[in-house]
Amino acid sequence: MALYVTAVDENSPAEKAGITVDCALLAIDGHPLNDALDYQFYTTPAAFTLEICEKEQPRTVQIAKGEYEPLGCNFKTYLGDEKHSCANHCMFCFIDQLPPGMREPLYFKDDDERLSFLFGNYITLTNLTEHEIDRIIQMHISPIFVSVHTTNPALRVRMLANKRGGEVLQYLPKLAQGGIELNCQLVLCRGINDGEELRRTLTDLLALRPQVGSIAAVPAGVTDYRKGLFKLTPYDKESAAVTLDILEEFAYKCRDEYGRSIVYPSDEWYLTAERPLPPAEFYDEFAQLEDGVGMWRLYHDTFLEELENYSGLVLPHSVDAVTGTLAGPLIQDCANALMQKYPQVKITVHQIKNEYFGGNVSVAGLITGTDIIKQCTGRLHSDLLTVPEVMVRDEKGQFLDDITLKELGKALSCRAVSIPTDGGGCCKAWLSTHKRKIKLKR
Ligand code: SF4
Repeated sequence: MALYVTAVDENSPAEKAGITVDCALLAIDGHPLNDALDYQFYTTPAAFTLEICEKEQPRTVQIAKGEYEPLGCNFKTYLGDEKHSCANHCMFCFIDQLPPGMREPLYFKDDDERLSFLFGNYITLTNLTEHEIDRIIQMHISPIFVSVHTTNPALRVRMLANKRGGEVLQYLPKLAQGGIELNCQLVLCRGINDGEELRRTLTDLLALRPQVGSIAAVPAGVTDYRKGLFKLTPYDKESAAVTLDILEEFAYKCRDEYGRSIVYPSDEWYLTAERPLPPAEFYDEFAQLEDGVGMWRLYHDTFLEELENYSGLVLPHSVDAVTGTLAGPLIQDCANALMQKYPQVKITVHQIKNEYFGGNVSVAGLITGTDIIKQCTGRLHSDLLTVPEVMVRDEKGQFLDDITLKELGKALSCRAVSIPTDGGGCCKAWLSTHKRKIKLKR
C-alpha cells in the first residue's frame, strides 16, 4: 500500500523536501505507510528517511523538521484510505432499522479502529487481526472505544452474528496489558444480555480496571423497520428499572471502592424508568456524553445556572420549542422554571412523537422535519420556532429527512432557528430571542 498525496501545505517540510501531488509515500525508516495513523505516527520524529514514488520512479528523501511538526502532506480522505466497514449483523443494529430513502452515508456501517481513536467511534474488534492489535499497542492508539455488549463469547457470537465475535474478546485483556485505555459500550437487548449476563459482563470488564475507564450502557433502539430482523422487545418502565438497579448497584460499588462510577447508565434508562437523574458527581468528568450518558443532568444544571446568572434585559416575547418525547418532560420543567422567573416570556414546548422511525425511538436527535411539520401545523403560539442543534447536526443544517430549517419555517409560516443543545445555551437563546441574535441557518 501507499499514501497518495493530493495536496502539500505551503512552506511545510514536505514542500521544502520537494514532495508534490505526483508523489506516493511508501515507507518511513523502513515502516510501510498504510494509512493516516501510520503517517502521523512515523512522521513525529525530527528526522527520518522517507521512501516515495514519483512518476513511477522510486526515490528516497531525507526529512529534517521540528519534532511533532506536521510534515504537511494531505490525502484524499482523512484516513489516507477508505473507512473499514463492519463484518457483523448485530441483532440490534440501528442502521438495519433505518427507514428507506435516507442519505446514502447514513447507511454505511463503519467498524474502524482509526475512527475510534480519532473520533470516539465504537468498534467491535471483529475485523481486527493480531497484527492490527499489536499496531494499536505499539503506536499507543489510546483510548479506544469498544462495543462489548457481553463478555460471554457464545452470546457475543449470537448477538453480532459473527463467528469471530467471541474469540476477539481475548483482545480486551491484551489491549489492557498493552496500556491501552478502553472505554466500553453495552447495547442492552431486553432478555438477551441483561440480568445475570449483564452482571457477568460488568464483573469481567471491571477486572480490567484501571485500563477500562468507563462502561456506558444504553438500551437497544427499536424502530418500525424491523421486517425480517430478530424480534426485539423495547424496554418499558418496569424492565428498565430492573436493569437500572443492576447498573446502579455496580456503579455505586465502584464509587465506594475506586471513587468513580465507571459504570454509567445512559439517560434513557432513567427517563424510561421514570426515575430522577443522579447528581452531576455521578458522571465524573462526563466522559460518555456522546453516548447519551449524563446529557440531561448537564442540560438541567447548566440551564438553571444560566437562568440564575442571566443579566440581560428580558422583554416580553413568545417562543415555540420542539423536542423529542423522551426529554419532553425535562425540557418542559426547564421552560416552566424560566417562565416562573420571567413571566413576560411565554414558551410553548412541543413534544414531537417520532412517527418517521416509529417503534421506541423518542430521542430528540432523531426527530425529522416531516414529523415537526405534521405535528406543529396550526399549533404554534408564536412566529419563532427553536430547534435544538442536535436535530440538524448535518453540516447543511438539514434534518435526517433532508428538510432544511428554511423549508421548515416556510411550511409552518414562522422563523425556524437552531439553538444550542446544551442547557446554558438553550436558556440564553430562549431569553434573548427578542433581540434576534440567534444565528439563522438555512
Ligand atoms: S457493528 Fe453491529 S451495530 Fe455496528 S454497524 Fe455493524 S452491524 Fe450495525
